Amino acid sequence: MKRATVTLLLLLLSVLPGRAIAAESLFIMGWDGAGLVNINRLLGEGKLPNLQSVLDAGASIVPLESIGRTETGSAWTNAFTGLTYDQTGVLGLRNYDDYFGGELDRSYNAASGLYVGMQYWYEKLPFEHTIFSHLKGQPARICWLVSKRLLSQDDPTNPRPAGLFENVSKQAQTKLLAKPNEDGEIYIDLLGDKALQFLQTFGNRTYVLFMHTDPDFYGHAMGENSIEYENEFIRSDVWLGTILAQIGAADTRIIVMGDHGFNEGATGHPNAPDAWMITDIPIAAEYIQQTDQKAFGTLRDVAPTILEHFDFDWQSFFPPMRGKTLIDPAARPVAQ
Ligand SMILES: [Zn+2]
Repeated sequence: MKRATVTLLLLLLSVLPGRAIAAESLFIMGWDGAGLVNINRLLGEGKLPNLQSVLDAGASIVPLESIGRTETGSAWTNAFTGLTYDQTGVLGLRNYDDYFGGELDRSYNAASGLYVGMQYWYEKLPFEHTIFSHLKGQPARICWLVSKRLLSQDDPTNPRPAGLFENVSKQAQTKLLAKPNEDGEIYIDLLGDKALQFLQTFGNRTYVLFMHTDPDFYGHAMGENSIEYENEFIRSDVWLGTILAQIGAADTRIIVMGDHGFNEGATGHPNAPDAWMITDIPIAAEYIQQTDQKAFGTLRDVAPTILEHFDFDWQSFFPPMRGKTLIDPAARPVAQ
């Protein structure tokens, strides 16, 4: 339940200073496999002008520690549930039943330095365990545009087991799965065009728009230092600018984030805890990127930070979120 509902009477009886609780929308852009080290380099080279414009308008760079495997499935699960792998069963990006018919491989892989069993997840996530179940109740329309099956799959004609976020995809009013390995380079334009369509129709109402692009695909194909990998950051940045232009002056908060990076110069990322977000949600100073930074947010803090901003009493939720809010205490809602 929203705190605003619980404390409505108090608010009616008194006029308090502080942030107004207004209906806001949320645009999350996920750059899969886009490591922070590359983000910082490309920002420095002026190759991400739209991301730079978000920073120039007052947003912060927030490095995020990984608390699970440094890969898509576990990272986005941590970010969008605020739960850890012992609560969700999501260790990695492969479906347990799909690959092993229930027989978990527990062997150690010396090449990756990981136990093979850590690569699996067991069930699709319950919708109630994701932040989108709360944001949907705002009420907000959900637009779910993703470039990987495990973030979306809800096609009943496909024999493969569900993706982790199938239940979110099912609740979305607008959705699209477009992947570079099936749709080619235009996958990102298919997703971006769909986002513009959604905003043209629903942009004047409350919404949550998630657009997920795939530098990860090009990192695996061509390597971390390849021009193709870098180019997908740049294409993601161009679409960021196009979508921000469409959002215009609307009351929308922005989060651009990466879930992991790549091992330096490699085509894989078993040990690449290089996650980040850039957001205009007011973040406490200690979590903002700086030299000799001593306090860090984690991927599991993304969910409580978003819910705190939207004034949800997330600390009362079950299962309990193990993360923390990264929001600047001075910017927290007055109705606590
Ligand atoms: Zn990957």
